[in-house]
Parts: sequence; structure tokens; C-alpha cells
Amino acid sequence: MPEYKAPLREIKFVTDEVLDMPAHYASLPAFADVATPDMVDAIVTEGAKFCENVIAPLNKVGDQEGCTRHEDGTVTTPTGFKAAYQQFVEAGWPSMTHNEKFGGQGLPESLGIVMSEMVGTANWSWGMYPGLSHGAMNTITRWGSEEQKETYLHNLVSGEWTGTMCLTEPACGSDLGILKTKAEPNADGSYAISGTKIFISAGEHDMSGNIIHIVLARLPGAPEGTKGISLFIVPKYVVNEDGSLQGERNDLICGSIEHKMGIHGNSTCVMNFDGAKGWLIGEENKGLNCMFTFMNTARIGTALQGVAAAEGSFQGALTYARDRLAMRSLTGAKFPEKAADPIIVHPDVRKMLLTQKAFAEGGRALVYLTSKQNDIVHHGETEEERKAADDMLGFLTPIAKAFLTEVGLESANHGVQVYGGHGFIAEWGMEQIVRDTRISTLYEGTTGIQALDLLGRKVLMTQGGALKNFTKLMHTFCKEEADNEELAPFVTKLTEMNKEWGDLTMKVGMTAMKDRNEVGSASVDYLMYSGYVTLAYIWAKMAKVAQTALSNGTSEEDFYKAKLTTARFYFARILPRTNFHAESMVAGADTLMDLAEEHFQF
Ligand SMILES: Cc1cc2nc3c(=O)[nH]c(=O)nc-3n(C[C@H](O)[C@H](O)[C@H](O)COP(=O)(O)OP(=O)(O)OC[C@H]3O[C@@H](n4cnc5c(N)ncnc54)[C@H](O)[C@@H]3O)c2cc1C
Repeated sequence: MPEYKAPLREIKFVTDEVLDMPAHYASLPAFADVATPDMVDAIVTEGAKFCENVIAPLNKVGDQEGCTRHEDGTVTTPTGFKAAYQQFVEAGWPSMTHNEKFGGQGLPESLGIVMSEMVGTANWSWGMYPGLSHGAMNTITRWGSEEQKETYLHNLVSGEWTGTMCLTEPACGSDLGILKTKAEPNADGSYAISGTKIFISAGEHDMSGNIIHIVLARLPGAPEGTKGISLFIVPKYVVNEDGSLQGERNDLICGSIEHKMGIHGNSTCVMNFDGAKGWLIGEENKGLNCMFTFMNTARIGTALQGVAAAEGSFQGALTYARDRLAMRSLTGAKFPEKAADPIIVHPDVRKMLLTQKAFAEGGRALVYLTSKQNDIVHHGETEEERKAADDMLGFLTPIAKAFLTEVGLESANHGVQVYGGHGFIAEWGMEQIVRDTRISTLYEGTTGIQALDLLGRKVLMTQGGALKNFTKLMHTFCKEEADNEELAPFVTKLTEMNKEWGDLTMKVGMTAMKDRNEVGSASVDYLMYSGYVTLAYIWAKMAKVAQTALSNGTSEEDFYKAKLTTARFYFARILPRTNFHAESMVAGADTLMDLAEEHFQF
């Protein structure tokens, strides 16, 4: 099992040098005094220690032991999970980005993302418990009444309680419009919630004193489809207004836990609600809109799972590739004193390592950039700034979620491949990363659903407006660097891609006007294309930072040269994948739709 080492220098490169987060925090009055450079450094350094020393060692334990459900519906988490969570709570980590009024530290969401990356890479399954709570807190903060905030947030923010997100049912996941869970009004203003929710992450466990479920359900007579869904707070133990527990258990229980491919340390529960007491949050029938707060938090969090997979598998594969001996370098022995050369001398092994590295480092910058928009959406000074950031956030979220999880999974597979047969053996931890990461392209909206969101809602419905806002950034960068000879290969290619992205969007948009199936047939290629181009922009920016550092003189020459080399690798070896997606996305829906359903045979 590779030992996790938090990539602190890499993180600082992105936060300080590429995205200029110190200036960003200083410019937002909400953070100017709390997120000072010293404070940020101290938080990230302490967070790294916790992740490396406390939760990384539990990653394998979680995988091997899994969670156990008992007859009374309670669930025991793997050895060490509860104690680690206690330490996490005592150190104040759950409260980091939440409102001071409820005991939070009021730090930026984008700083919380840095901690989440380290937590997730160290132990994804463990990180899901506080991760889900974070979404529940954001939802209550955004949509809850003042009383609800007072009742629930103090204990959630302190970490004493945790939260969940209950959307999925046996007959619906992507299409929440057909969900059946019912909410019947009680005389006291609460609602009786009845129905079955499945696949509920952290639905039941032994790590916290109460679990606050955020549940989608239908009121009597509600309109059909997504317009008839409301959102409810349904606690495991009913809570008094002052936040103390009434003691009685609510009428909900974990019916079973799923036996699954990976993330064994996280309890994925079937939750049976049998007239459980719940309280409406937000307006009647506007539940899906409110739930988007949760889902958007969770989607950026899930994008991190792709980064975590790339980073974790890269750390393992790099260590192994330096150590494992096999055959000689094609250009002659590099280590003649050894029985064979280490496999890192072989071009194909290097290609896999560089692919992981390019996705881990580029992906990190993409998630942090996305999260930076989130800070502005909530704390920007002007309406105009907040609106622009919100549009950018909406555009980047499906790309970050779907593209980074797809390439994260690819990176995890490279991890296994670099280890050869040993990659398939549990002891080394590489196969666990593949199993744990496989879920990331499925939950929080599958890649197919994210692709429809990007192309349908974010691009075509805005007449390309959201895309133009982003390509404007690329255009400005290319213009600024037009005379920079060293960056010319990046700038020339990026300029080309900028135009092609617009042309392809236009083409898909035109055909979609004649046949709506063209949207669905182009969407995943469109999303992957967009992901590769977005990452190219990010790599070009990182190359620019590296080039500037090198020309100004630096004591870290190797670090910056590695950045330039990885950027060159990305443009030469990964970016050409856009050619395939560009051709495929305009190949026409008929190639997918012509085969009559009955002629799909086996
Ligand atoms: C381990 C795990 C943890 C989870 N945690 C949670 C949780 O905490 N809370 C929660 O509520 N849910 C959770 N889920 C559920 C998860 O979000 C859903 O499984 C996911 O959204 C997909 O829904 P589904 O399984 O019903 O698939 P379906 O919706 O049945 O989709 C099946 C396939 O059809 C495709 N598809 C569907 N509609 C379209 C369309 N219009 N166009 C193109 N393709 C389409 C999908 O992309 C997919 O490939 C979890 C699931 C798992 C396995």
C-alpha cells in the first residue's frame, strides 16, 4: 500500500502562483481577516498531518472490514473510523467553512476544498461521512428557516451530528421526477415521511450522535414530475427547538447496507422511512431547486475524487516504477550494476506516469478554480461579480465532475498497469483505488447526465453565452502571451482549439434544432472535448507561471522545469484526444438511432 504524502508544494503552486488565492481572499471582505496567508498555510499543514497520519492508515482497514449492520438497524463502521472522526471533530475541521453564528470559522469554501482533497486522497470512504454533512449544512444554511438553522446547524457545524442526502429510490436515480416517497402533513406542522430511499451514503453509522437526513418527497396532490417535489429535514433522533435531543428515535431505519465494488468503509444504506417526522425546508414543490445546493456542493466534491484517484495512484505508481526492475532501457543499460533497469526508464511506463501526473495537477487546478467561483458567488461584493461567478461555476461544474472522474478512473487503471500483475493484488492498494473510484462517474449524476447538463442547459440554452465567458478567458490569455516565444506552441494550439470549440458548438446546435437526439448523441463527446480543452488552458497557464519563475531565477529549477515538461506532454500526448471527440460528436445521431430496438440482439 503506498503511503499517502500530501502534495503540499503542488497545492501551494496552484493556490498561490496559478490562481493567486491570497489576493482573492484579500479582495473579499468576508475572508480578508480570516484567510490570511499565515492562517491558510497553518491550516493546510495541519490538515496534511491529520490526513497522512490519522486517516490514510485506515484506508485499507476500511476496505477490508467494511461496515456491519446489526439487527436493530444500527451500523458499525470499520475499526478506527469513529476514533479518527472524534479527532477530526476535536480539531474543529467540520466547522471550517461554516458561519460563525453557528460556531463555524467562516473560512472560504475554496480552502475547505484543499482539505477535502487531502482527506479524499488519504481515505475516500472515510471522507464521505464529513463530506455529506458539509452538503447538508450548506443546504440548511441556504434554504432553512431561522429556527431550523438554530435547531440543526450548531451541532452539525461542530461535527457532533452528521448529515445525508436522500434522493435515490429503487425506481429512480437520474430521473427524480418519478420519485414516490410521500410527505403527509401532521397536525403540529411537521410531516410524516414514508418511502424507501436506496444507496444513501453515510445513511447510518456509529460516528455521530445524530444523523440529519435531507430528504426529497412529495406532498399530497403535488404536481407530477420535478415540479411536485419538496425537501424535508428528517433527523434520526427528533430534536427540540434548542437543539437538544428528545430521546425518541424517529420512524426511520437502515434496512440493509449494500455490498458493493468499492468504498467499503462508507455505509451505503437502504433507508426505510415509515411515517418519520420531517420538517419542510424551503417552499413546497421547490425541493429540487433547494436540493441543487446540496448537489452542486457534492458535484465539486466528487470532481475531487477524480483528482484523488490520479494523485493517489500516481504516488503509488511512481514509487514502484523507481523500484521495480525489468529489462533494459531501449537505449542501453541505465543501471548496469543492477540485474535490470527500473521500469521508469521505459517510454510506455513514463507515458502512464505522466498521464496520471498531468491529470492530478491539472485536475487540482480545475477544481480549485471552480471552487474559487463559489467563494465569489457567496461573498462577491457586487451583484455583477456574483452573477458572473455563478455562470462560470455552473459551466465548470459538470466539466469538473464528469471529465475529472473519467480521467481519474483512467489514471487509477494506469496505477494498476504500472504495477504489472502486482497491481491486481490487493496488498499494493492499486486495485482498491480502481474499485473505490469506479463509483465517481456514477453518483452525483452520471457522466451521461452531466454531459446533457453541460451541452443542453449550460451551453445551448444560454445560446453559447456560458461557453463564451470561458473562451473569453482563453482568448485573453492567448492575446497577452501572443509575443511570448517560449509559450508559442501552447498559445497557437489554444487559439486553434478556442475557435474549434465554438465551431463545434455551433454545428451541434444547428443539427439539434432539427433533431433533439443530436444533443444526446453528441453530449458525452462534447463534455470530454470540453474537459480536454479546459485542462489545456489550465496547463498553459501553469506553463506560463513556470516559465516566469525560471526566467526570473529560482532555487526550484527542477520543480518548474517539470511543470513545463508536463505541460508539453499534455499538449502533445493528451490533447490530440480532442480530434477523436470532435469527429465523433458530429457523426450524427442516426449512427446510434438507426438500429431498431428489437434488432439489438444477443
Ligand atoms: C455507492 C453509492 C453511493 C450513493 N450515494 C447516494 C446518496 O448519498 N444519496 C442519493 O440520493 N443517491 C446516492 N447514490 C445514487 C446515485 O446518485 C445514483 O445511482 C445515480 O444518480 C444514477 O442513478 P440510477 O442508479 O438510478 O441510474 P439510472 O438513472 O437508472 O441510469 C442508468 C443509466 O442510464 C443513463 N441515463 C439515464 N437517463 C438518461 C438520459 N436522459 N440520457 C442519457 N442517459 C441516461 C445513465 O447515465 C446511466 O448510465 C449512490 C449510489 C451508489 C452506488
